[in-house]
Amino acid sequence: MSERLPGYRGLALKMLLEAGADIGDLIRVVKDNVVLEGVLIPRSEYSDDKHIVIKSRSGYNIGVEVTPATKVERVRTELKPLFVPPPPPEQRTGLPKVTILSTGGTIASRVDYRTGAVRPVISASDLYSIVPELSDIAVIDAEILFSIFSEDLTPKNWSAMARAVADHISRGIDGVVVTHGTDTMGYSAAALSFALQKLPVPVVFVGAQRSEDRPSSDAPMNLIGAVYAASSAPFAEVTVAMHETPSDEAIIIHRGTKVRKCHTSRRDAFKTVNSKPLARIVNNKIFILTNNYQPRDLERKIILKPEFDERAALIKFYPGMNPKIIDWYVSEGYRGIVLEGTGLGHVRRECFPAIKGAIDADVIVAMTSQCIWGRVNMNVYSNGRDLLSIGVIPLDDMLAETALVKMMWCLAQSKSIDEAKNLLITNIANEFSDRTVEHFEPPKFSMG
Ligand code: ASP
Repeated sequence: MSERLPGYRGLALKMLLEAGADIGDLIRVVKDNVVLEGVLIPRSEYSDDKHIVIKSRSGYNIGVEVTPATKVERVRTELKPLFVPPPPPEQRTGLPKVTILSTGGTIASRVDYRTGAVRPVISASDLYSIVPELSDIAVIDAEILFSIFSEDLTPKNWSAMARAVADHISRGIDGVVVTHGTDTMGYSAAALSFALQKLPVPVVFVGAQRSEDRPSSDAPMNLIGAVYAASSAPFAEVTVAMHETPSDEAIIIHRGTKVRKCHTSRRDAFKTVNSKPLARIVNNKIFILTNNYQPRDLERKIILKPEFDERAALIKFYPGMNPKIIDWYVSEGYRGIVLEGTGLGHVRRECFPAIKGAIDADVIVAMTSQCIWGRVNMNVYSNGRDLLSIGVIPLDDMLAETALVKMMWCLAQSKSIDEAKNLLITNIANEFSDRTVEHFEPPKFSMG
């Protein structure tokens, strides 16, 4: 593969090199007496070695299959494709102050012609330039924390995010927006819900399912909703702001410990599970959906607890699961295991000795349900009761992902295993919902 001609290999590369052509040059390709002219564009590094791709004057991309008889000529150099964001809008005074911290993900991405995939390349301040409406809502300060996809984040990144958010809040702002990849945004939102206690102002995570350079992008509307919530919402909690439906009707604000990505591609992928969302934003008006929230209070002093112990695992049980999987975690020095059991909170009896072995070795073992909706109840069936008597801790209606994050957090906060166990079952950030507000609203994904 050539650095100069990304994506080109084999005969196609040889012909382009012989013609002295570079990406962005106007080239002429003659094949079977047909003459085609266009600007040479890069190819995905995973595509074949037989085609040269040019952008014709009409804007269409044309792939020409080259043979030894094909002729390639360089005509002249054209302007190289380059993303230059527009200048940022002028800041208005007298508006609430909001910090946007960018971490990467689709919301900060554009199509990368090297791989044909999207890459996180836009900083928070570029986003501000691309969505000038933000300057009518708040005075924005922007900082890049990381530029990575969220599947590449680790608990160390959660700690760094928590510290950065606390630092900005201590400068006296009205809210923080964290732009983030959607894949693990639920984990990060849960992590900051535990790490940032007694928040005086809202912290709003936001992502996008389609990058900002695509016509169907949800990025601008999500970002506007998030900045609006950060600047004006009456609650001071860690939340997630995303499209409520596939169309541009409303932005829905989910609580950080109760939210889950439930669809791979839809704009309304995020759903609140076992609870109600906090608010809905329609045309820059906020409609509060519950009375149960921590109110905004600029006098409140934030408490920062940003440590996570990575020696905790989430194990999804499946029929026939080999109990040695559990033994392996114990032998590797893990200190906590969250099981994602079946139904009300079960795993096969074959796993019981391994679970007992883990608990005897001072590993905390807790149970959540892979049903996602509802709560575990390990008193109904004998398998559940036996797991309880071995010492497995039921985690009620807590999401499995939130439970893993909380396990890491509890292990890092506690001096003893009993302290960690107590913390695990204490409601810290509404990760447990009250039975009296039992709420079952499975995702409504209409067709289209
Ligand atoms: N894989 C991406 C990420 O989570 C997807 C996204 O941003 O939506 O970073």
